[in-house]
Amino acid sequence: MALNLAEPALLRTQNLIDDQWRDAGLGARLSVSDPATGEAFACVPDSDAGDARLAVDAAAAAFPAWSRRTARERAQLIKRWHALILQHQEDLARIISTEQGKPLKEARGEVLYGASYVEWFAEEATRICGDIVAEAVPGRKLLVLKEPVGVVAAITPWNFPLAMIARKIAPALAAGCTVVAKPAEDTPLTALALAWLAQQAGIPAGVLNMVTASREHTPGVVDAWLLDSRVRKITFTGSTPVGKHLARESAATLKKLSLELGGNAPFIVFEDADLDAAVDGLMASKFRNGGQTCVCPNRVYVHEAVHDDFVERLAQRVGALHVGPATDEAAQIGPMINARAVDKIARHVDDAVTRGARVVTGGKRVRTEDGPHYYAPTVLVDATPAMELSCEETFGPVAPIFRFRDEAEVIRDANDTPFGLAAYFYSNDVRRIWRVAQALETGMVGINEGAIAAEAAPFGGVKESGYGREGSRHGLDDYMHTKYLCQGQLG
Ligand code: NAP
Repeated sequence: MALNLAEPALLRTQNLIDDQWRDAGLGARLSVSDPATGEAFACVPDSDAGDARLAVDAAAAAFPAWSRRTARERAQLIKRWHALILQHQEDLARIISTEQGKPLKEARGEVLYGASYVEWFAEEATRICGDIVAEAVPGRKLLVLKEPVGVVAAITPWNFPLAMIARKIAPALAAGCTVVAKPAEDTPLTALALAWLAQQAGIPAGVLNMVTASREHTPGVVDAWLLDSRVRKITFTGSTPVGKHLARESAATLKKLSLELGGNAPFIVFEDADLDAAVDGLMASKFRNGGQTCVCPNRVYVHEAVHDDFVERLAQRVGALHVGPATDEAAQIGPMINARAVDKIARHVDDAVTRGARVVTGGKRVRTEDGPHYYAPTVLVDATPAMELSCEETFGPVAPIFRFRDEAEVIRDANDTPFGLAAYFYSNDVRRIWRVAQALETGMVGINEGAIAAEAAPFGGVKESGYGREGSRHGLDDYMHTKYLCQGQLG
């Protein structure tokens, strides 16, 4: 597999620690495979706790000087990084597609999306403000400062290999923190390319350190960070069980935490909705990235009065989606990330069919002669809460349709999950819009809109989808603490 990059130096296959590209201390390597074919095409370090500690040594040493730079200086360096990401956007998109499998068009979109957070936080760096508070006692001044928390450990998943790590590193650097980061086993190359671009941008030695590890060695790397009191914050995007593990284990040193975890998003189509807009919204939110998105609708509730009409329109669109490798410019759905992912999708569909769901389109593995990880875009009807896919993220191109009768019933069902990341609904009744938006127990709500993420908006969940926000003016707060100064004897 040749990547054919215009800038071959973007293909980094070593860790970045203290401005040096290094192999893992013990020399172990991990293969990176193309999900379309299952073939390995690169190797990166399979790091362990020793490498993780070296990265913290570098980040801790770099912190005092980096945090003392003016916000303007930090912003300028982050802007330079942003410009280099844009300059190399086509190469970055190729790396994303090759290691993650998403169609090239979507990978190009991800580069721009991730870059938008980098630019946003470069700008926000210069707007960090504290307060001067009215004194309660004469002769005193009360001031509130915002300070960077210190060394931040960032751990990210494979589904958006560039955007997930960029929207952690950028606010951390903007706030004045230094970073140790570990991308997912399946997608280390995009993260390493970003680290190389940060180095080219002039981000100083030790400010950003990146180590890669296999699924087997990841707990060792992350445990080293959890135990290290110099690491003051963990920022994690991934599954809820791993998020809970990090919350438990970081308690020993009481680290600050941001947890962007799993979802189980409802998508509700009321009887007064614009059905074409609702189908468009579902196509955008459900089938992007092959359905491997934390904010993907996992349960589609359609009012009985419009159910059959909606299903017919949706099935036509879903049945026409083109499945293929990222290299096929016409592809709309790529391969799933790995065998575990495609097995889970098949298990969910089989379980639903056994419990009474009907497949309207899809419902099977496809292109098996081309690669092991393709699954057909699928619409199921007659879904019920008893099915596995109603309680657990399917993380694939499967839209299960639940029929409902009234608003109270659908809100109860939509909220009947431990998760609370995103929800969507379509309605043209202005009173219902406010009622439903307030009743949904999620961190984000799309109202007559299926694509809701933006760098200017706070992204994050409630309940077991985690806490903390990425993007918006709130996104920097997660990387700073508040210090209160009281100066007396001024009267
Ligand atoms: P995951 O298994 O939790 O992995 C995420 C990251 O955690 C990876 O870097 C992984 O490393 C690491 N990890 C795994 N086990 C660990 C352990 N015991 N200790 C420390 N780190 C560990 O999740 P995933 O399957 O990659 O990603 C899918 C999940 O992420 C879904 O639930 C999805 O909803 C969620 N997600 C949430 C958001 C959001 O913003 N809320 C965004 C995207 C995805 P390895 O790769 O080496 O295992």
